[in-house]
Amino acid sequence: MQSTDFYQRNIFKKESPFDSIQEECGILGLFSDENVDTFSLSQFGLFALQHRGQEACGITVMKDGKMINIKEEGLVLDVFRSIENPEEFMGNGVIGHTRYTTAGDKKKFNFQPFFAKNEYDQIILSIAHNGNLINAKELKEEMEKEGVVFRATSDSEVILRLIQKNLDLGLRAAISATMLKIQGAFSVVGMTRNKFFAFRDFNGIRPLLIGRLPEGGIVCASESVALDAVGATYERDVLPGEIIFTNSREPGYQTFQVEAPSKQRLCSFEYIYFSRPDTSLEKISVHHIREKSGEKIWEQAPVEADLVIGVPDSGVPAAIGFSRVSGIPFRQALIKNRYIARSFIVPSQEMRERVVNLKLNPIVEEIRGKRVVIIDDSIVRGTTSRRLVKILRECGVKEIHFRSVSPPIIAPCFLGIDTPRKDDLISANMNTEQLREYLGVESLAFLSLENLAEILGSTNHCFGCFTGKYPVSPNSEEEIF
Ligand code: AMP
Repeated sequence: MQSTDFYQRNIFKKESPFDSIQEECGILGLFSDENVDTFSLSQFGLFALQHRGQEACGITVMKDGKMINIKEEGLVLDVFRSIENPEEFMGNGVIGHTRYTTAGDKKKFNFQPFFAKNEYDQIILSIAHNGNLINAKELKEEMEKEGVVFRATSDSEVILRLIQKNLDLGLRAAISATMLKIQGAFSVVGMTRNKFFAFRDFNGIRPLLIGRLPEGGIVCASESVALDAVGATYERDVLPGEIIFTNSREPGYQTFQVEAPSKQRLCSFEYIYFSRPDTSLEKISVHHIREKSGEKIWEQAPVEADLVIGVPDSGVPAAIGFSRVSGIPFRQALIKNRYIARSFIVPSQEMRERVVNLKLNPIVEEIRGKRVVIIDDSIVRGTTSRRLVKILRECGVKEIHFRSVSPPIIAPCFLGIDTPRKDDLISANMNTEQLREYLGVESLAFLSLENLAEILGSTNHCFGCFTGKYPVSPNSEEEIF
C-alpha cells in the first residue's frame, strides 16, 4: 500500500522517461489533381483533430511544384490566424500536424511537419508523424556516423532523414526501406514536390484513414472526424504495412503492401480515451464502444445507487450505457470548463489545491445526500479520481461507487500515448482494494481486459498499458493473449 507521500509526490507531476520523444498527435494530408483551397481545408481538418494535440500545429503546402511550410506554437485557429497570406497556402497538396508534447520539449524545431531541403534551400520532402519509434536513438546514431545532420530531437526526424537518404531509389522504395528499418508505432503522411504519400506501421498501432474529397483527390487523417470536417467521404483505413501514394499525373491512388509480418493491433486506448466520440476507427464507432463499456461494467460490478454520473467528456457515454442497463438514472452533474485546452502553470502547492474545481465543477443539488456511481474512462496516476472524490464528498454525497471503464493501467506506453512511468501509475503500485481505500470510496471496479476485448470484437488491438505486453517493444515481442 502506498502512503499519502506517494500521492503528494505525484500529484500534478507530468513527466515521463520518454519526454523527448513521446507524442500523441493528429495528422492530416490531402492531395488533388486540381488546385484546391488547401489553406481552408487543412485548417478545418486540423481543427477537428485539435483534441489530439494543443501545443503547436503546422502545415506544408505543395503549390506549383514547390513546397512551403509554417509551424507555430498554439491552437489551430490561432496559428492559421497568424498566416497573413492565405493564398500562398492554396495549392494541390497539404500535410498538417497538431502536436501534443510532454513536459520539457516544446522547442520549435520539434514542431511538425518536418521537412528536408536541397542545396537551393527548397523543400524537397516533408512528413508529419503520429506515433513513437522504439529504435530511433540507434538509427539516429547510425546515420550521424554517416554524416547525416539532424536538427531536432524528435524520433519523427529519423523517419524524414531515412526517406531522404534513400530517395535515389525512388519514393516507393525509399519509404519501404524506411518502414523496414524503423520499429514502433508510425502513421505518416508526407509529400515530395509532386507526390503525396501515407503509410502505417506493420501493427497499425496509431490510426490512419483514407477518404475522398468531393472535388476529387484523397485525404488521409488520424480520425474520421477530420474527413467529415473537410467534406470527404470515408473510404477505408490504411492497412498495417501499407503505403498509399499518388501524383497529379495518374487518377486515384496507388497502394503497395510492404512485405513484413502485418497484424492489426490498433491501440485500444484510442477508443477508451484518446479519439473523439464521433470518430469511427476501423469501422467501429468510438461512442458505441464507450456506451458498451458502461453497460459491461454494470454487468461486471452492479451496485445499488440513486444516480450515475460520467466524468466529462469520455466517461459520459459510459455513464449513459450504465444507466440504460441498470435503470439507475443518469445525471449530468459534473460540468467541464470547455475552454481548458492546456494545464495551468501553478507554482505553489497552495494554489494547486485550488485548481481542483476549475476544470470540473459539480451541480451540488443533483448529488447532495445521494448514492452516486461515478464513471471515468481510466485511472492513470489517480490524481483526477482523488480530486473527484474530494469534490463529491464536499457536496455531501452519501456513497461513492467509482467505476473505470478501462482495465487497470499497469505499464507505460512506448507507442505514442502519454502515460507516465511505472512508479507513477497507481494501479502498478496498488491492487483494487488498496486503491479503493486510498480513494476513500465505498466501491471501486475496473472493466476487465476480457470484457474490453469482447466489446472491441477481437483481440486485434494493442492492450500494452493493461498487460505490459506490446506488439513491439524494446524488450518483448510477446503476444498479447
Ligand atoms: P489521472 O489523474 O492521472 O489518474 O488521469 C486520469 C484522467 O486523465 C482520466 O479522467 C482520463 O480521462 C484522463 N486521461 C487518461 N489518459 C490520458 C492521457 N494519456 N493524457 C491526458 N489525460 C488522460
